[in-house]
Amino acid sequence: MTKDDVAAILEEIGLLLELKGENPFKTRAYFNGARTLLNLSEDLSVVVKGKRLGELKGIGEALQEKITTLVETGSLPYYEQLKASLPAGLLELMTIPGLGPKKLKLLHEKLEIDTLEKLQAACRDGRVAGLAGMGEKTAANLLAGIEQRQNYAGLHRYDSALALAEDLHDWLRGHPDILRLSLAGSVRRGKEVIKDIDLVGSSKNPEALMADFVAHPDTERILSQGPTKSSILLRGGFQCDLRLVEDAQFVPALLHFTGSKEHNVALRQRAIAQGLKLSEYGLSSDHSKSEINNQKFPTESSLYQELGLDFIPPELRENLGEIEAAEQGTLPRLLEWTDLKGCFHNHTTASDGKNTLREMAEAAASIGLDYFGIADHSKSSVQAKGLDEVRLLAQVEEIRKLNKELDELHLFAGVECDILKNGTLDYEDAVLEQLDYVVASVHSSFTLSEKDMTKRIRAAMENPHVHMIAHLTGRLLLERESYALNIPEILKAAAETGTWIELNASPYRLDLDWRWWRQARDLGVKCVINPDAHSVRQIGNLKLGAQIARKGWLRKEDVINTLSVAQLKELL
Ligand SMILES: [Zn+2]
Ligand SMILES: [Zn+2]
Repeated sequence: MTKDDVAAILEEIGLLLELKGENPFKTRAYFNGARTLLNLSEDLSVVVKGKRLGELKGIGEALQEKITTLVETGSLPYYEQLKASLPAGLLELMTIPGLGPKKLKLLHEKLEIDTLEKLQAACRDGRVAGLAGMGEKTAANLLAGIEQRQNYAGLHRYDSALALAEDLHDWLRGHPDILRLSLAGSVRRGKEVIKDIDLVGSSKNPEALMADFVAHPDTERILSQGPTKSSILLRGGFQCDLRLVEDAQFVPALLHFTGSKEHNVALRQRAIAQGLKLSEYGLSSDHSKSEINNQKFPTESSLYQELGLDFIPPELRENLGEIEAAEQGTLPRLLEWTDLKGCFHNHTTASDGKNTLREMAEAAASIGLDYFGIADHSKSSVQAKGLDEVRLLAQVEEIRKLNKELDELHLFAGVECDILKNGTLDYEDAVLEQLDYVVASVHSSFTLSEKDMTKRIRAAMENPHVHMIAHLTGRLLLERESYALNIPEILKAAAETGTWIELNASPYRLDLDWRWWRQARDLGVKCVINPDAHSVRQIGNLKLGAQIARKGWLRKEDVINTLSVAQLKELL
C-alpha cells in the first residue's frame, strides 16, 4: 500500500467515526494523520520499516499501529469491523457529493434513511427540506448529487481504462491462437470516459482462445462466453468484451466495433448512396452477402478509400464533420504527442506537489522536454500551501539559479494564480511582473451565476500579465460537473485578449473538453497542453493531453507548447 492508499483509509475511518458520533478529538486524529501521510516526502514503507512513524507530526501510538498493519499486510481488521458495524447503504450514501457525515447522521436518525432510494424519496416529498438545518436548497442539491451518482455508475476515466485495455491487449497478443488483434470502441476513439473495453481479434481457433480469455487472472465474473463474443467483468468493475471473427472479416469488424454508432450510420448511408452495403461483415454490392470480397480491404484505409474517403483517424469518428472533411481531403493533420516541447502548469513541494523543484526539472529533462514551467499555487489556495509574495519571489530566484546549472532544459518561472471571486488576481501587478508567465485559474466560489463567472474569468483575461487560463470549467470527471460558464463568450474573449486556453491533461480533468476545441481554433484561440503535474510521474499526462487534443481536431500549429524555447521566450 502506498501512502496515498493508507491516507485514504485513515480519512475514511475518520468519516465513519464521525458518522457514528464519536468524539471529535478522536475523528480529527485520523484526518490529521491522513494529511501528514499525504505530505510525506519519503517512501512510507521505509518509514514503517525504520520504526520512525512516531517522529511524524500528529501520528500517535494508535495510528502508528494501524498504519504499520496496513503497510505490512495490506488490510486492517479495525477498519473492516468499523465498516461492518454500519448499514452498507450508509457507506454508499457517503459517496454522494454534498453529503457529509453530520448531515447523513441526522438523516439516518430522524428519517431512518439508509439507502439511496430512501434518500431520493425523502428529498422529493419534502421530508429532508423540513429537517432543522437542511432546507429546500440542501434537498435539491442532494437530489442532483444522487442523479449524478446514477449517471456515473459503470463509467471509468480514460486513463485507467486505457491502461487496463493495453494490458489486456498485450496479454492476448501473445496467445498462439491470435492472428490479428486491436483495441476498439471508445478506448480506441480516445473518449474521456469509458463504459467498457472492446477488443476485436481474428483467430483460427476461437473456442480455445475464448476459454483462455475468460480465465484472465483478474476476472471477477464471466458475463457471457461464446466463439464470437465473450464478456468478462474484471476487478475494479471494468467490463471487457472480446469479439473474434475470421481473419478476412477483421477489418470491417474493427471499423464497425470502433464506432462511433453515429459515424457508422453515416458511413452506411454513404455506402447505400453508392449502391453498396456496409456492415460488420464487409462491403458488398447491395444484393447479397455472398458478394463480399474482403480480400480487397487489407486495412481500414482501403475500406475508406473504396467509399471515396481519406482515412479517418479513430479519434475523429464521431460524425462531427469528419466524413465531409475526408471526402474533400481537408482532414487536419493531427498533433502528435512528440510535437510537444515543454509545458507550463506544474507544481512542486513548495505548494501541494510531491516532488522538489530539482526533481521535477530532472524528470522533465529525462523525458526529452526542452522547457518546463513551474506554476505553484498562489496565497489564497491555503489548503494547497499557496505561496505568499516572499516565498514566490524566493522560488523565482531558486529557478533562475537552477537554470544556470541545467544545459538541456530551460525552466520558466510562473505561478498558478487564483482568480478571486470578483475577477481580480491573487497578487499585485508588481509581483506578477517579475515572473516569466502567469497561469490564472478558479479554485473557489464555484456557485456564481453564469453571468458572474463569465465576467470573473473575462476580467482575469484582460489582465496583461495573464498568459493562460487553466482548467477552464473546473470539472472533475465522474465527480463534479463544470460550474456555470458561457464558454463561447470566454473563447471570444480569449481570442480578443490573446489569452491561451489550457487543455489540462490531468486524467481527472481533461478540461477544456475536446468538443470545444474546433470552435476555439476557428476563433484563433491557441491551446496550451499542460499536465498540471503534482509529481514527476504526472508529467507523463502530457501524452493523454495530446490524445484529447487530437480528438478536438487540433494540429501542431494550434498548440503553443509545440514552439521552441527561443520562440516562447520571445512570445512571453
Ligand atoms: Zn488548479
Ligand atoms: Zn495546478
